[in-house]
Amino acid sequence: MMGAGGNVPRLPVRMCVRCHVITEALVVVGLVHQNSGPGFVVYACQACAVHYPPEPDVLTVLPPSRQAVGEE
Ligand SMILES: [Zn+2]
Repeated sequence: MMGAGGNVPRLPVRMCVRCHVITEALVVVGLVHQNSGPGFVVYACQACAVHYPPEPDVLTVLPPSRQAVGEE
């Protein structure tokens, strides 16, 4: 037997978005939505996940300075 036996399915690399460690014990800390194509999930290790709020909108929250702008 020879030939097409070597195509091992690739597992997606899950890397901590904060400290860039690659581990299997990752926590979903956010979802990134893209205009073209599906979005992707942001992972963090358990040590870093505590620095992220549980809401999936962590990457889309506006800075506090924007709250005082736009008054009319
Ligand atoms: Zn980490």
